Amino acid sequence: MEKSQILVVEDEEKIARVLELELTFEGYHVEKIHDGLDALQRVREQTWDLILLDVMLPGMSGIDILRRIRSGDDETPVIMLTAKDSIDDKVTGLDLGANDYVTKPFQIEELLARVRASLRSKQSRSKASGLMIADLSIDEATHEVYRNGEEIELTAREFSLLLYFVKNQRQVLSRDQLLDGVWGYDYYGDTNIVDVYVRYLRNKMDKGFEPKLIHTVRGVGYVLKDPR
Ligand code: CA
Repeated sequence: MEKSQILVVEDEEKIARVLELELTFEGYHVEKIHDGLDALQRVREQTWDLILLDVMLPGMSGIDILRRIRSGDDETPVIMLTAKDSIDDKVTGLDLGANDYVTKPFQIEELLARVRASLRSKQSRSKASGLMIADLSIDEATHEVYRNGEEIELTAREFSLLLYFVKNQRQVLSRDQLLDGVWGYDYYGDTNIVDVYVRYLRNKMDKGFEPKLIHTVRGVGYVLKDPR
């Protein structure tokens, strides 16, 4: 089995080193990073099985990182590392979609137990992560997409867009809804980008296949549905 990939975002070098050592010893692949902005970039560059996220960081706070992760439909498990006396951070973190939190200073055994629990729940989710519509199948965990048995290669953004369509299938979605749901509210461009990406997606997963699944609703937006 492949090693689980864990990103440790922690600016206190001593804590980061202990985490790296212990998690590596447990058989995980660990990368540590101390700056908030660098962390956000690494989060976007590859798929992680788990992120351990400190709150107080140089560059960008853990809370802001989490907000950005979750605004883009990214459900990577996140465990927040919070200071003992900051109830606010815990509440905000959980509200924003953190899966768990560990209070510093922590017992390493407790932290490892939380890590195992988060990875387990991710695995059980990914087993049930297959989505089907007509002859299109999508694996949320592996990002694999098949149409009529043929693998469709999508970029990360195209995949997010398709996933959003599938999760909201049969609903007519406006460009603004798609922009919010897929690009998140940190996107400041105009809604033309939605049309551009819908075109990319159609070229890959509808062109040459029947039935067409993405339909234009004039004056409103788009809908994904099996027309049969
Ligand atoms: Ca810190």
